Order: sequence, then structure tokens, then C-alpha cells
Amino acid sequence: MQDFLDELDNELDGGESVSEADFVEQKQPKPAVSEQRKPTPPVKNQPRQKTFSKNKPDSKNRPETFVPQKNFGTFVSRFPDVKFYLPTLRDKYTRFIPIGGNNETGAKNMGMFQYGDDIMLVDCGVQFADMDMLGANYSVPDVSFLTKYTKNIKGFVITHAHLDHIGALKHILPALDMPVLYGTRLTLGIIRKWLEEAKLLDKATLIEVDAGSDKKWDVGPFKVEFFRVNHSVPDCAGLYIESPGGAKFVHTGDFKIDFTPAIDAPADLTRISEIGRRGITMLLSDSTGSSRKGFSMSEKNVGEALEKIVSEHTRGRLIIASFSSWISRIQQLIDICDKHGKYIFLSGRSMVENVAIAKELGYLKVKEHIMKKMTPKNTEGIPPHKQVIITTGSQGEQFSALARMAVGQHNSIEIVQGDTVVFSSSVVPGNEKSVVGIINKLIKLGANVITKDDGEVHTGGHAFQEEQKIMINLVHPKYFMPIYGDLYFRTLHKNTAKTIGYKEEDMVMIENGHIVDFAPDGNLFRSRIKVPIQDIIIDGHGMGTLGSHVLKAREKMMNSGVLVLVYKVDKRTRALLGHIKLETRGLVYLEEVRDIHRMIIKKARDSYEHTVKDVPDIEEKDLIKVLRSDLETFVSKRIDREPMIIPMVVEV
Ligand SMILES: [Zn+2]
Repeated sequence: MQDFLDELDNELDGGESVSEADFVEQKQPKPAVSEQRKPTPPVKNQPRQKTFSKNKPDSKNRPETFVPQKNFGTFVSRFPDVKFYLPTLRDKYTRFIPIGGNNETGAKNMGMFQYGDDIMLVDCGVQFADMDMLGANYSVPDVSFLTKYTKNIKGFVITHAHLDHIGALKHILPALDMPVLYGTRLTLGIIRKWLEEAKLLDKATLIEVDAGSDKKWDVGPFKVEFFRVNHSVPDCAGLYIESPGGAKFVHTGDFKIDFTPAIDAPADLTRISEIGRRGITMLLSDSTGSSRKGFSMSEKNVGEALEKIVSEHTRGRLIIASFSSWISRIQQLIDICDKHGKYIFLSGRSMVENVAIAKELGYLKVKEHIMKKMTPKNTEGIPPHKQVIITTGSQGEQFSALARMAVGQHNSIEIVQGDTVVFSSSVVPGNEKSVVGIINKLIKLGANVITKDDGEVHTGGHAFQEEQKIMINLVHPKYFMPIYGDLYFRTLHKNTAKTIGYKEEDMVMIENGHIVDFAPDGNLFRSRIKVPIQDIIIDGHGMGTLGSHVLKAREKMMNSGVLVLVYKVDKRTRALLGHIKLETRGLVYLEEVRDIHRMIIKKARDSYEHTVKDVPDIEEKDLIKVLRSDLETFVSKRIDREPMIIPMVVEV
């Protein structure tokens, strides 16, 4: 509890800290309104406690003891216990369950295939926090129901290296006893870095596959073949999955079709069409780009637009914000800068790290003479118009390199009049406000800002409707399941499939946790049983569910602030000793502040004295409940707000 208060002291502004003494000892008449705004001077012989943290009760009296996390520096992976057992799978039947990614777009992607008792998992992504998660860092797929099946899990197949497909591995791998991972070289390279940071690498088994080869991998009873697709990170794979029960699946992962990608080979349409001739039971296909008509633009067009900007840039620095995993974009920039005699500086930790990994694995051909280290000293001697800075922060992320530049806190780069900032990126839905915020700050500093609205400086990584049609046509499945998207995007994708002849009954529209089983003849059966899937949130090193009391408390504090009352009482007689102290955070009021505090403290005293008199042997936890409830009613009536109220009884 004390740590909680200390944290509040550090985190929240606008708090009030007062003691009953501030009122009861002050016998002067009520000051005029204008004087009330002045801070109250400390009362003589009653030094005012500025904050609680300086008035820590001794350890014996601390209401709760803080136990530091033993596993600090590693990651928590204790999922809640659930009493759920997978329904028995009939002989020769094959099962699919989306665990994450079907109720959300571009987040938390994960699915499972089952045959007999054996399970194979596909992808394992995170979802980054939005306002609904109230300060939690991110959420991960709920694998609580799988933790009792760890012996049955034969492997994890990973389609590509984006965090919404790999970011939850560090939590989920240990929870599932470290199943074997299959992925392409770059995908595993980036996973390796994450597992190393989480101190899990030495326990992990990673098997490298080649998406260009038609080799079939045995993952438990399943045969899995990887094929090449295009996307916004190189070395992406789609999957062909064959079950001994006869069901055959194609899982696209994230994909687009680009005939002129920058460094990858184009999506392997020949092989996809060959796979389609095997008689596919169900296609699971990426719905992220479902709302976009036509074909997505090629990465090559972006290169041309960027080259025009770089070559014509003659004044100030050129700062290009992009995703750090967009290796092909970075390669294009390296080549362009080389051609036009410019120097590249990388800014942002993930940018530097991903470039290092891609370079080491041979995906990025870096020309050392143009790549400079980012320090204030190293930019010296290079005229600003020769400097091209590739930076993270295209989504307006609060602590990113670009955000630091925008507020003048970047170590090496100070934005000045005449600099140009290019957003070679699109805005992920939900980030619009932060991005516009950064753009405003950059313009204020004198920068010229270019976004994809001003030119072809970005293309997305997901198939538009015409590419989605190509995939469905080539694979030609019996059933079609739009995946990776909330209901809206999946429905748009379904509608696209209808335009090429698929019927409503051919579509599999299911949410996370729904179970579909396929008979040996390929017919589909939907189970009425649903896997319980909750939102599992990660907050620092802690893990919990979205419905937990922690988030409810945060919501209350966020909406209405916090009010803490400390009662010092005699351990034996339970009589109140001295003054009740009141501490508030985040409650907004001005002129009436002293009156309100006075009223609350009076109510707090009355409520305590009455309760202890009426029930002299009341237990402390019940006493606290009564005090809280009395005060909640009172505060709600008087100031029409419902702050979180924390009464604390300190026995001495
Ligand atoms: Zn992706």
C-alpha cells in the first residue's frame, strides 16, 4: 500500500495533502475567496506533511508488505488456472481454433490445429495497449486452457517477424514448456533477439526453414510446407498444412502480392497454385487490407518517390520515419543515398537492432562508407543536406526517437528551420492523435513534413481486394475463413470471396475460442463449446486479466481521482489519536477546496467514531469497508464525483 502511495506521489500532479489540523487548529474567520487560492501556511507546532511518503508508518504497522518480484528482469508467464478441457476430437478429425487475431485487427495473432491428442500452434503475437487497457503495456493471447496440454504441443510455426505474430513468445513459450519453433531465417533471427533479452534463448529450440523450398516438415502428425508471400518485413511465409485425417489447409499469414518487391522475391504464385490443386479443405486468409479496392502499390514505387525526395533535397536535414522491421524500405534508402552522395544515420533502438540483425543475416546490404553512427560528433563535417536520418517513431510513440526530436530532447538531432521529415509509413488505427501531435510539434520547430498523402512515400504490407481474390482463386478451397481482423474486416473479406462465387455456407466466420472440426471427407462441424478466452494484459512484469480489480481501480482513479484518509488510532481502545490526514490526487476543484476537505474530514471522523461505538469489536477490514462506503456516499452527494477512496487505519 505504501508503495502505491509513493508511486502516486511520483506519478500524479495536482494532489492535495492536508491534515485535520489544518482546519481544527485554525480559529481565524473564513478567509475571503481571493485568499483561499493562496496556499495554506503551516500551522505552528504542527508541521504540515507535504506527502505521505515522508510519513511512512513503521514496518510493523504497514498495512500491506510489498514483495518484490523475484523474477525481475525475466518475464512473467503464469496464466490463470481455468477448468476447461478441450472436447474429445473424433477419430481422424482435424480441429482448428483461433486463439487470437479474429476479434481484433493486426494484433495478438495465434491459432491452433489439433489431430488426435497432438497440437500445433501458429504464431504468437501481442496487442499493444490502447485506452481500453488503461496503462497496461500490452496484451497477449490467452493460452490458459493450453497449459495443461503442454505435452501434446508438438511445435510452433511462425509466419513472420512482426510483433503481432511473435511478440508474445517470451510469455507463452515458458508457459507451454518451450515447444519447438519453426520459422524462416530472418524471422528466427529477430525471435532470437527477443528470447535472448527475456533470458529464454538457451531453453529454446529453433528450426530454420526456407520458404523458397517445397520441403514438408513434420510437426507432430502434421506436414507443413512453407511458401513465399510478400509483406512489410522480408522472409514472410504462408503455410500449407496437411493433417493425417485428410484435411488440408492453406494459412496465408500476413501477405500481399508484389511483383517488384525491393529485396524479397515476389510471392510464389506458381507454388500457391500448385498447392491449390491438392484439394484444399479451408483457406485461412489475411483480412487486414479488406477495405481497400484494387491492388496495393508496389514497394518499387515507394523507392522511386523516396529517390525523388532525396535527390531534390538541398537544404536542411532529411529525416525519414519508418517501421524498423521494414528492411526493404531501409535497403532502398541505402541504395538511394549511395547513388546521390548522402550519408545515413540510424536513430532509435529497434532501428539500430533490426538493421544489425538483417545485415548479419544477409538481408540488408549495407554500404559501410555511407552508414554513420548517430552521435552529435559524427554529424560534424557533413553538411545537413547530406544527412539522411532513418528513425523510429512513425506512429507517434511517446518515447520514440522522433518524438524526442519533436520536443527537442533527442541526444544528437535538433530540428531546425528547413529540415524535412518524411513519414514513410501509414498510421496504425488508434495512433492518429499521437501522429498528428508529433507532426504539429515538428512544424512548429520549422520542419517541412511529408506524409503519404503528399506522395507515394509508403505502401502497406497487406493484400487489397484484388490480391485477396488472386489468393482465393489460386488456392480454391472448399471453405474460406477470413482471419486477422475484427468482424468488420472479416466481413469485408467474406464479401470479396462472395464476388468470386463463394456462398454464405462456404464461409467460416468465427471468433477467438470457437472450435471447428473437419471430418475425413472435409466436411466442417462447429462445436457449441467455446474455449474461454480472456484478455491477458502485461503491465511491466506483471500479468493479469482485463477484468481484474487492478484495471477497475485504474478506471476509477483516471475518471475521478483518489482520496486517501489516514486514521491514527489507539491499538487497545481504538480511540482516534490526533488528526485525520487527508490526501487527494486528481480531484478537480478550486475555490471550494477547503470547505470540501473540511467536510470530508468531519464525515470521516463521525463515521469512524459512530462505527467503533456501535460495534466495538468490529474487525479492521470490516471497519474499513464501512468507512469507505460512508465516505463514498458522502463524497458522491457533495461533489458529484466518485473518486477511489482509501481509508487507512494505523494502530499505534
Ligand atoms: Zn505482419
